[in-house]
Amino acid sequence: MSCLFCKIIEGSIPSAAVYQDEQCYAFADIHPQAPVHVLVAPREHIVAMTEASEKQSALLGHLLLAAAEIARAKGLAKGYRLVINTGQDGGQTVDHLHVHLLGGRPLHWPPG
Ligand code: 5GP
Ligand code: ZN
Repeated sequence: MSCLFCKIIEGSIPSAAVYQDEQCYAFADIHPQAPVHVLVAPREHIVAMTEASEKQSALLGHLLLAAAEIARAKGLAKGYRLVINTGQDGGQTVDHLHVHLLGGRPLHWPPG
């Protein structure tokens, strides 16, 4: 299996785990863009939102709720941003769907 995040999820590539359960694995981004920068990835290999379907609705909802719970645990009471970069124009660089949780500083809008 050649997917970087599948390898991180199975543990063959090390990462700093932040949260995990039977559906998802959350870990610190290796190049943090904010004081808190966590990636929440489904254990199931889904390439991107372009490939997601109705049967993954509950899983996708779970990723958002897990990110919100991590944000609470990290003390991001002033707010945060959840981002799913999708495809080439969306700036996606790893083809295993993931939610970025960014927080700990004011975030600009619109993003680049
Ligand atoms: P994308 O650009 O696909 O939305 O996000 C990919 C993210 O994965 C980037 O923020 C990048 O810093 C992070 N990343 C890439 N390789 C690794 C790695 O080996 N370990 C960790 N923890 N993060 C990674
Ligand atoms: Zn994968």
